Amino acid sequence: MQAISYRRAADVNAAIQAAQQPGAAFIGGGTNLLDLMKGGVAQPVTLIDITRIDALNRVDALPDGGLRIGALVRNSDAANHALVRARYPLLTQALLSGASAQLRNMATVGGNLMQRTRCGYFYDTAFVQCNKRSPGSGCAALDGHNRMHAILGASAQCVAVNPSDMSVALAALDATVQVSGPRGARSIPFAQFHRLPGDRPDLDTTLQAGELITSVDLPPSAFSEHAHYLKVRDRASYAFALVSVAAALQMDGRRVQTARIALGGVAHRPWRAEAAEQHLAGRTLSAATLREAASAALADARPLDGNAFKIPLAQRAIVRSVMLAAGQTGDFA
Ligand code: SF4
Repeated sequence: MQAISYRRAADVNAAIQAAQQPGAAFIGGGTNLLDLMKGGVAQPVTLIDITRIDALNRVDALPDGGLRIGALVRNSDAANHALVRARYPLLTQALLSGASAQLRNMATVGGNLMQRTRCGYFYDTAFVQCNKRSPGSGCAALDGHNRMHAILGASAQCVAVNPSDMSVALAALDATVQVSGPRGARSIPFAQFHRLPGDRPDLDTTLQAGELITSVDLPPSAFSEHAHYLKVRDRASYAFALVSVAAALQMDGRRVQTARIALGGVAHRPWRAEAAEQHLAGRTLSAATLREAASAALADARPLDGNAFKIPLAQRAIVRSVMLAAGQTGDFA
């Protein structure tokens, strides 16, 4: 058994200072990290408890009309905050579709961003081959059970997917991740926060060593009226997405002014479907337009042996979620 030291940080600076030692890890809700530690996948030497940093546990309206959600705000509190519900219903829907009520009560916004893939080979240390856990060892999923794995943006080193629902909504909403670290504070556009695997699948994000997420900032919302998060999964709750779609629209009658579409369950990071967004912009919604947009979104998909079903599933989920975001509940005439 490996000994672990525990330190409680009183503020952000103290947390960053404590994180300078090798083997240190921040712990908030612990809903993913503790599982990883119990399985021997993560082996921190020091846990830095950040849960007492009150400055990170608040939601603030920003002067520009946006919203700042502190990194320690619990998923359930973020989902049910009055301003989130009113301005960013897409985020509320995504958060409430994730995990279970008990986990949402513990898990934090910052931790949600940092949760690791649920690839079974990554979690089971009996499998030697996993480039994400042991760089250079190979990837057991390539020729193994890969039904849940990536169809977009994967590499020969890793075909894992990001498991977060919240992050799919944040990608569609163009959030910004605020971080602080040994070299000061910086802002990371959401599209640049999570990485594709490339030849470094051990790195999930672009965070630098010792950096701490302090908040997620949302720009003023143009999508409070027309948004829908659709999650397709093997059972009705407490399951990760096979495919999910965050759809947000600005509408002028039945004409789409602006569309934002992000996909979950298909890639190593939340996947913005920009080709679909461009196809929808300026067009009147119709069955044909939706099918064309969905087809464009998956044009670059490359399925594995076990997950070709994800391509038509994602296409249909895009059509469905955009229809629901637009307020269209039946078939087009
Ligand atoms: Fe490991 Fe990624 Fe391969 Fe899964 S898909 S076994 S996480 S390298």
